[in-house]
Amino acid sequence: MTQDLELAARERGIKYFLVSFTDLFGVQRAKLVPASAIADVTRAGAPFGAFATWFDMSPTEKDVVARPDPSTLVQLPWKLEVGWLASDLWRGDVLFDQAPRSVLRHVMGQSAERGYEMKSGVECEFFFLTPDGNAIADAADMQPRACYDQHTLMRRYDVIAEVCDTMVALGWKPYQNDHEDAHGQFEMNWAYDNALVTADRHVFFKYMLKSVAEKHGLRATFMPKPFAHVVPNGCHAHVSMWRDGVNLFSDESGELGLSALAYHFLGGILAHAESFAALTNPTVNSYKRINPPIFPNGWTWAQGANAITYSGDNRTHLIRIPGRDRFEVRIGDGAANPYLLQAAILAAGLDGIATEADPGKRLDVNMIEQGGALAGIRRLPSNLLDAVRALDKSQALRARLGDGFVSAFVKLKTMEWNTYCAALSEWERTTTLDC
Ligand SMILES: [Mg+2]
Repeated sequence: MTQDLELAARERGIKYFLVSFTDLFGVQRAKLVPASAIADVTRAGAPFGAFATWFDMSPTEKDVVARPDPSTLVQLPWKLEVGWLASDLWRGDVLFDQAPRSVLRHVMGQSAERGYEMKSGVECEFFFLTPDGNAIADAADMQPRACYDQHTLMRRYDVIAEVCDTMVALGWKPYQNDHEDAHGQFEMNWAYDNALVTADRHVFFKYMLKSVAEKHGLRATFMPKPFAHVVPNGCHAHVSMWRDGVNLFSDESGELGLSALAYHFLGGILAHAESFAALTNPTVNSYKRINPPIFPNGWTWAQGANAITYSGDNRTHLIRIPGRDRFEVRIGDGAANPYLLQAAILAAGLDGIATEADPGKRLDVNMIEQGGALAGIRRLPSNLLDAVRALDKSQALRARLGDGFVSAFVKLKTMEWNTYCAALSEWERTTTLDC
């Protein structure tokens, strides 16, 4: 494998490798390694003081080392002399249990023991903003129903085509790009694949889109709710379980064409949604998407998303069954760490399979109009603190994801919540000054 990277550098004119990893908060960290040193780094790893990033570590502890995975190599299309590599983090001879890529690999290992492979596709929504992040970049993007608008889509052709061309060249099989529901909001789709492959691509996609947008004088954001009165950025995942090239979720004789295994998996998602929300919706801002207002046009894609329910081809529920071979988990948002999004879904689904969880009957109602009147509906957490506490208490998720990871995540996210609470907001002054 070491030889492959040296060879790739010579053949493709790569002068530097970005040896990259993703920390607990989804921040991408890297060292820029000259091609002449990549053989050593692949063998011995690049050291990082993990305490200086979003991990629960102390400066008294040994460095973690990043060993790049050569199969993830992407030559940056906007800087051809640089090759990007996803890395695994190691502490001594073992994978670092807090590292999101390790967490996903750990859960995938449990899946593989049962002979299952999860395949997944993600729908990444994002906004193009002005470089200072204060406004939607296209001031003329103001139609009351902006979704799929052709003219505003084509005003962003240069940046979208550059990113999509790269996905084509990399073999990701992109298949559509569109303007989404909010002003300034877009979505780009590529084909589903093995969950780790999808997570690595999701990580690189975020980096690529932001970089290419910067080149075009724009700022791309995946922030769930960058403005109070816009439709938020979701990150829906379409999932299925496979064995030997056969989709085990597909069963023509099953309800809506799905197998008993699919319904057990789905039951696991519903059972653990409150507990894994801290992973799929990991910021203070995330809960402004989950508990959204109704927009001036009377619509939101996420309304009903705080209810833990499922349905057929109906976009007002947490889980939608759009076809006969998969279902769509609509909880995740643009802030979700790509590895932890997949790990959370797989962990919950595996527990559902192991316990033969029963999701109950699907709800064929419009949750926007009728959801409030239904009795006994479980809801997602109202805020990040409730979500973090639910994750902390979940023995099932701790068993699947690993105690070390869950405890570290809970500790750092609780600290983040406390930082948020310590900040005095304008709303607070306005509502309390004259008390
Ligand atoms: Mg969308």
